[in-house]
Formats: sequence, C-alpha cells, structure tokens
Amino acid sequence: MTFMNRKIIDGHVHYAHFSYEPGLMALMEDAGIDKLAVVCTPDQQRLSLVPDALLLKAKHPHKVYVFGGLDITPLFMAPGIAGEAFAHCVDVLMEMGVDGVKMIEGKVQIRKQLPIPDFDAPVYAPYWEHMAETGMPLIFHVNDPEEFWDPERVPDWAREMGWFYGDGTYINNEAQYQQVINVLERYPGLRVTFAHFFFLSAQLDRLAGYLDRFPNMHVDLTPGIEMYHNFSRQPEKARDFFLKYQDRILYGTDIGARALLGDQAAGIEQEESLARIEVVRGFLENEGPFTLAHEGFLFGGQEAVFQGIHLPGDVLDKIYFQNFERFAGAAPKPLNPQVIVEEGQRLQMMINVMAELQPGTSGDTSSADELLRVFSG
Ligand SMILES: [Zn+2]
Repeated sequence: MTFMNRKIIDGHVHYAHFSYEPGLMALMEDAGIDKLAVVCTPDQQRLSLVPDALLLKAKHPHKVYVFGGLDITPLFMAPGIAGEAFAHCVDVLMEMGVDGVKMIEGKVQIRKQLPIPDFDAPVYAPYWEHMAETGMPLIFHVNDPEEFWDPERVPDWAREMGWFYGDGTYINNEAQYQQVINVLERYPGLRVTFAHFFFLSAQLDRLAGYLDRFPNMHVDLTPGIEMYHNFSRQPEKARDFFLKYQDRILYGTDIGARALLGDQAAGIEQEESLARIEVVRGFLENEGPFTLAHEGFLFGGQEAVFQGIHLPGDVLDKIYFQNFERFAGAAPKPLNPQVIVEEGQRLQMMINVMAELQPGTSGDTSSADELLRVFSG
C-alpha cells in the first residue's frame, strides 16, 4: 500500500535498546515520518529505558521527543511516599529535557507484577497534582481490549503473550476505568493521552462522554488491532466520531513494541512496523474496504479486511501532527547534559541496589554507562 507524502509525527514508539538506533531511524526515513516520540517503560534489568531514549534524542534533537517512564523504585523502597517521589521524578525528567511522561502502569500484567497502588489512592495525589500544575503531557496505558478478560473471546495470540486476565488474579478493567476517571475528576487540568483509544473503540458513545467531560483528555490510534476491527464494523459511526473529535486524536503505531514485549533479539522489524503504519493510515485515508496481509504479531498471522474512513486532508493533518504538537510542543525540548549525567549516576547506583533486592534479576547498567559516556564528554 502506498500513501501520499504527509507530515507525520509518530507519537508512540518503543525503543528497547540504544543499539536499535540505525534500524529505527532508517525505518522512519523510509516511511516518511518526520518526528517521533519514544515512550519509555520500566525495564527489569536496566530499571529504566529513559537513558536509551535520551541517547537517541541526543543524536536527533529535532526529530525525537521523549516520554520518560516514572522511576518505579519508590514502590519497593518507600511505598508510603511514592507520590512525592514520582512528583520529584517529573521535575528531574523536565530538567533533563524530557518532553512528557509515559505510564504503562495501567497495563494489566504490569500491574500484577509491580506493587502499584490504586491510581486514585491518596498516595498518588502529590504526583497527579504536580502533573496537572506543570501541564506535563502524559501518555497513559490503561487496561487492554475487553475481550482479554473473557475466556470465550480472548484471541489465541493474546493468551500466548500471557494477556488472558479472566482467571480472577488480575485487576478488573472497569475497576481501573473508575480509578482513572476519579483522577480526571479531581485533576481536570491533567493533560493526558490514553494510548490505544483508551480501549473503548467498541464503545464510542462512552468514549465521547469522557472526551466531552474532560477537555484535556486525548486518545491515540496506536493498534490494538482490535480497534481497527471495531471501527470497521461500523465505519460510518467511526467516521462521524473522528470528525467530531478531530482535535483529540493522535497518531501512533507502537513500532518497536515487539522487541520490547516479546522478542528482544528481533530489534525493530521492518515488516511488522510497516504493517502498523498500513493499518492506521489505511483506515484513516482509504475509502471503503481494504485488505492487509502481514505475518506475525499484529494480526495473529491472518489476512484481514478493514474499512477506510477517508478523512479530509485538514483533519488528517490534525491527527498526523498538529494535535501532537499542541499536546507536547512544536519541537522537542533541548537536553540538559549536566542533569542527565547526575541522573545517569543515580541510575547506575539504583540498578545495583535493585539487583540485590530482587534475587534473580541481574543489574545491567549498560545504558546508564553509555549515557554517562556520551553526556559527560
Ligand atoms: Zn506501546
């Protein structure tokens, strides 16, 4: 599938290791993507993927935005004051020249692995308050497709990934929605983009209600392939929704997620990444049905038919870059090497402490080491 050249910012890219730089940037170049936002998640071995993202941004300062993950060590070491620690973490991220915060903490199996409090619990309050006050943009992954809780409807590939949540040991999706809605009600200034359409692509009326209630809330188009099946089931309704909420929808793909979640050795896979671009752009730009056939992760190996909604050019521009620029800034923020070096040293130390606290995990300081090498030079 070929697309017209357009200015595009991919607002949702994963970058699991600094060695992936050439592959990722070549892919972005080939696909005609102008700028990208790396969203950072916690990492068991290296604690944080922020150093990797900062290294990428240092090489491409005008092309790369960074959404830093929160340092999760307070959840283990000082759970009672985790909210204050997270608020401080936001300050450090901002001082380093990070453009926003990414939270994967609402992804259900992450929540099971880490001692994450309820999002509306008092312990989080200082963090939410600080985020709302500073206007720091947040990309927040909350829940997963609703069928992942349903033994009858969970897809085989999701089960294989360990994403079947219906056995009673995982948090319920409605409980998580309620916690997050409580947060938005208390902190209406919070500037948030919910990844993957807030997993409400099958409940557009409900999502519209939230968007109407919370003017600083956005959603991104990052697959979740189920989103595109859901949209394709009612393309006219989907098109009306996209026209009505054209200022609140951001483009994203999850390129690099496979290397992060499944297969570390895979790196940034060309075929899988192009499939992500094709399904999102195909849906937004094509008129009527289109077929995609790609092997692997995104589609569970099947050929699939989707319905395009053929949006007008001015709406596409909003979704492809204008909404992101309003959300996170027209250009990535400049980096501050001195603060980055201090944070790199702190991370080296914390990685070693965490490796001792959690038997079985080896502390891998390679990214922090590389960060210090680059930024103290
Ligand atoms: Zn993602």
